[in-house]
Amino acid sequence: MIVIGGGLAGLAAGVALAEAGWRVRLFEQRPFLGGRATSYVLPSGQHVDNCQHVTLGCCTNLEDFYRRVGSSDKIKYFDRLLFVDPQGRRGEMHAGLLPAPFHMTGSFVTFAPLTLRDKLSIARAMLDILLAKGHTADLEAIPAISMLTWLERRKQTRGAIERFWRVVLVSALDEELDRTDARFGVDVFRKAFLSNRAGYRIGVPTVPLADLYDGCKAAIEKKGGEVVLRAPVRGVTIEKGEVTGITFDGQRTETADAYVFALPHATLAELLPEAQRVDDPVFRNLEKIKDAPITGVHFWFDRQVMDEPFMTLLDTHTQWIFNKTMLYGDAHMDEEPGTNAKQYLQMVISASYDLIPKSRQEIIDLVLKEVRQALPRARDAQLVKATVIKETTATFSPEPGVDQWRPAQQTSIQRMFLAGDWTATGWPATMEGAVRSGYLAAEAVLREAGTPQKVLQDDLAPDGLMRWCA
Ligand SMILES: Cc1cc2nc3c(=O)[nH]c(=O)nc-3n(C[C@H](O)[C@H](O)[C@H](O)COP(=O)(O)OP(=O)(O)OC[C@H]3O[C@@H](n4cnc5c(N)ncnc54)[C@H](O)[C@@H]3O)c2cc1C
Repeated sequence: MIVIGGGLAGLAAGVALAEAGWRVRLFEQRPFLGGRATSYVLPSGQHVDNCQHVTLGCCTNLEDFYRRVGSSDKIKYFDRLLFVDPQGRRGEMHAGLLPAPFHMTGSFVTFAPLTLRDKLSIARAMLDILLAKGHTADLEAIPAISMLTWLERRKQTRGAIERFWRVVLVSALDEELDRTDARFGVDVFRKAFLSNRAGYRIGVPTVPLADLYDGCKAAIEKKGGEVVLRAPVRGVTIEKGEVTGITFDGQRTETADAYVFALPHATLAELLPEAQRVDDPVFRNLEKIKDAPITGVHFWFDRQVMDEPFMTLLDTHTQWIFNKTMLYGDAHMDEEPGTNAKQYLQMVISASYDLIPKSRQEIIDLVLKEVRQALPRARDAQLVKATVIKETTATFSPEPGVDQWRPAQQTSIQRMFLAGDWTATGWPATMEGAVRSGYLAAEAVLREAGTPQKVLQDDLAPDGLMRWCA
């Protein structure tokens, strides 16, 4: 069996099928694994993630994948979320003693950056989600409505929208509220904040992202398979409705019983023969799935400027600051040769459309100003090095109605299976969505081979009072 693409979707499919006894050959075009969730080594020897990635307690399939490949202990979970506004007001969110869905109530009531009116309007909308069990009638509407419309219909205050809903959802879904399908937005709150008291916990890798995939190669090789890097696939041959081979440089071909294409949707469309790309509505519609950008900004300071592991900024371009020095410990925090860097921070800006046309220096200046506003000790500190990574096609845009263009993992073409965060998983473009797609593709391969097996993990079971109203 062949898997094409060594991102999380391809790795999840490959590892699951190897564990089910298949000999998997995985081809990845780059010299390393991880796709969009990976890290590089700079010429100076420093490890840099393409962008900080976090997971949530409700991401059960990603957690299962890390366990399968021996990386569970490389993720550290935090249960306190810190928010800071430009006036220096701090607010914390964490679970208290009350059972779900009321476990965050205590910290919400005392959350300083929101007014009482903001909080009352948020509580009303949350109640609506609870009473409708996450399926408010307007979520079923055709055409689908945006999250902003959903919030406006529930008379959310400006403060509630800007300092609560937008802050959580733009980071989680990589899109502005007016371009996000309300179904995704409501789902985030139901799964992460209401259903189970562990759903909101943030999992942060304590190693560079590429190190999370160390166990994948071994899992595949243990069953006689192989992982081939620097192996870009250049074409797919489809004859009489069946995949008969894939082509590499030099017209070399490989064949297999089944093929999982775990590529970005635009790349898959380019590889397909014209007949499929133009005539098959499943593939023709792939171009309707749009992309959304994320910008990562990396700063190295000459002294310690931050004590918290991470924080969320309110009312600024910069959405998150991660304290990489603290998260990595000493293992990967080598000093930049020739500099006196003492602390490495990484900032994340999701749906960063307005930053894309800006120059590297303009972005550094803007983010540095906001970091210095949030972290007083950074005001006197010297910025010894900075890097900006703009990912223009970071995720697919979860715009209203996008699910209708997302194909299932099993296709009408024999031996051809699809994986990738953009395939039909019900989830937005996340690591969890990518792993789900890989597991669903593995299930489809096993079903087709007459050996059906459940690979997909269950969602976190509702707990507390949610056991009776989920
Ligand atoms: C900047 C950024 C920040 C993000 N932050 C988060 C986050 O905090 N939390 C979260 O859950 N998600 C986050 N995501 C989303 C997450 O990274 C993706 O949803 C996930 O990694 C997608 O995995 P995938 O396997 O579907 O696709 P990809 O990772 O794109 O994998 C596709 C693979 O196919 C390979 N490939 C392409 N063409 C060929 C070819 N011709 N032959 C062989 N191989 C080929 C590629 O090199 C790649 O390895 C972020 C994404 C980005 C870009």
